[in-house]
Amino acid sequence: MLGTIGLFALWLLAWGLSWPQRRVWLASVLWWLLVLVISAPALRAVMGLSPRPASEFRFWLIFGIVLAVVLGYRHWLLQLRHKAVAAAPVAPATARDGSFSEAERNRYARHIMLREIGGQGQQRLARAKVLVVGAGGLGSPVLLTLAGAGVGVIGVIDDDLVEASNLQRQFIHRDDSIGMAKVFSAEQAMKALNPFIEVRPYQRRLDELVAAALIADYDLVLDGTDNFETRLLVNRICAELGKPLISGAISQWEGQLSLYDPARGAPCFECLFPEKPAPGLVPNCAEAGVAAPLPAVIGAMMASEAVKEITGAGEGLRGRLMLHDALYAETRVIRVKPRADCPVCGRR
Ligand SMILES: [Zn+2]
Repeated sequence: MLGTIGLFALWLLAWGLSWPQRRVWLASVLWWLLVLVISAPALRAVMGLSPRPASEFRFWLIFGIVLAVVLGYRHWLLQLRHKAVAAAPVAPATARDGSFSEAERNRYARHIMLREIGGQGQQRLARAKVLVVGAGGLGSPVLLTLAGAGVGVIGVIDDDLVEASNLQRQFIHRDDSIGMAKVFSAEQAMKALNPFIEVRPYQRRLDELVAAALIADYDLVLDGTDNFETRLLVNRICAELGKPLISGAISQWEGQLSLYDPARGAPCFECLFPEKPAPGLVPNCAEAGVAAPLPAVIGAMMASEAVKEITGAGEGLRGRLMLHDALYAETRVIRVKPRADCPVCGRR
């Protein structure tokens, strides 16, 4: 009787003092041992204490054994569950036959239910390899949107480091990524969003040395650099290799984008912009400034065109140039044609 009251008193004290669970168990076991020893008839006789009924000792012995079995079983179950969770893959890769796992079907469900995309379109996205040039203002929405949409392999090339002045609009990067290479910061954000895709970061400038070999490895290129020379180079290599190029540009409140594809009858970038601007004539974002939402708008349109191009949905911007003026909320689309005298794609 005293043993039972003592045990309840102990638990009440532990609850009042908010003891950690481990200490409560330890104190309970010590109390149980004490009660067991005191109620053992043989020990009582040795210590010269008055005899107690043997049933009391048996009760405490059986009580301890039953409790130990119950707690041991519970501990074993928890261990099993822990092992099962640890063994489960975080992101099981798409099966070799191209079919999606349950987790992927669930992730892409809103795409799969679209008539224009469906399961087949989502499979095309999973098999697609897209190269994104620049992980800045346009790169941020492009990379995150394509990662979320489930484009299987996304390459990103940029030689810049994240700076504080980027963060006003380049939302793929974070404040604690300042000083980090943009491609690795972008890779982290994309993998955090979608662990089912492969990201290939290239921390370097896209130049003559690597352009052809790199672009040859991809199906589609998206260019969002603010450097005219890189734009011309990307355009020339894409035209030579017959790769479609979605190129976007922004300045202050205005942006434009198109799908350049001379191999399929559309003009190339140089058909539309043949003259390399004199140094200082076309200022970049650092010189002219840019409204924070503008790259998000144009970049999202570029990603939208990429998803359509890969899945075959709708009508793309092949042979059409989209112009967006954010300040007056106006968007126009104009028809554009290849130029016969284009040094890149003319007389093909
Ligand atoms: Zn051309």
